[in-house]
Amino acid sequence: MHDDVTYSPATRLVALGRPTRTPGAPAAPGIELSSTYVLGDGPTYGRFGNRTWSTFEGVLGDLEGGRALAFASGMAAISACLLMTPPRGTVVVPQHVYNGTTSLIDELEADGRLSARRVDPTDTAATIAALDGADTVWLESPTNPMLEVSDLPALLRAARERGVLSIVDNTFNTPLLSRPLELGADVVVHSVTKYLAGHSDVVLGAAVTADDAIHERLHHHRTLRGAIPGPHETWLALRGMRTLHLRVARACANAAELAARLATHDAVAQVRYPGFGAIVCLEPTGGLAAAERIEERVRLWLPATSLGGVESSLERRRRHAGEPESVPEGLVRMSVGVEDVEDLWQDLDAALQP
Ligand SMILES: *Cc1c(COP(=O)(O)O)cnc(C)c1O
Repeated sequence: MHDDVTYSPATRLVALGRPTRTPGAPAAPGIELSSTYVLGDGPTYGRFGNRTWSTFEGVLGDLEGGRALAFASGMAAISACLLMTPPRGTVVVPQHVYNGTTSLIDELEADGRLSARRVDPTDTAATIAALDGADTVWLESPTNPMLEVSDLPALLRAARERGVLSIVDNTFNTPLLSRPLELGADVVVHSVTKYLAGHSDVVLGAAVTADDAIHERLHHHRTLRGAIPGPHETWLALRGMRTLHLRVARACANAAELAARLATHDAVAQVRYPGFGAIVCLEPTGGLAAAERIEERVRLWLPATSLGGVESSLERRRRHAGEPESVPEGLVRMSVGVEDVEDLWQDLDAALQP
């Protein structure tokens, strides 16, 4: 890649993170498997740094507009970010976010480590009011699994004005649909497990920030607590990211088409779809029993948790104990993949029949 040309994200996904072009150099980066290094300048030990991590981090950081740090999982990154809240500090968090995040905040609250203010993030004024005197604000837009969309620019601006540390879980959007750092967020976190890696074969997380002091704190946390990824995982994630733009475009187009068809389906009471992204939630008219029937009947859709893979999957979210009671019993979260949309529709329509 030439430094003097500004390439689009699609091109950067393909071209960045490749070995230097010298005669005989490989086109693709290798996997560095070493726990230790020869003393002197450069890397020293496998928990402190690894060049396969760095290659992945370089590409993700470029796309989000900051410096990325890979973590062992999305939850490892989320945990590192939440623990930047000072002892007995206050975190503002939407009522519905990824249930691992909710459970972690509940536990930290029960331990007296921090206190939480739960908000409806679609109520911008109430969320901004909750920021007064808070230390950290956690945001997801859309939220998981209710798909509520918040006014991120307004909320992030308000957080910045009040000196509240803002963290955005950008897993559902990827940097192709939203770049929260450009909107004023301090940190973006990802479950790389989902769209970024994209093939349901790796568990990995990342935190991205443009602030050097925050980067240093997160790096320190990762090193000292050992929340490090494996080199294989970061290599697989970068390999998956080469086609992120193609996968996201196809999955989003499929999701828009399916959401439109579901909206007029006799067996569907409600469809949640924010108008972007590839997650669609439906509530069948038959409630819980009908939702369980969908999970049992699908042949092409994978009945499984997780999301963001090339393959379409779905699950009734309330099957998980951590999901709050405000999530309807019959809500089925669908992660729309990149298959032929007619095949997806046929399978779903058959599963929805009374
Ligand atoms: C899956 C998920 C996580 C957790 O990531 P892991 O890689 O499973 O640890 C966090 N946030 C969102 C939005 C997720 O979908």
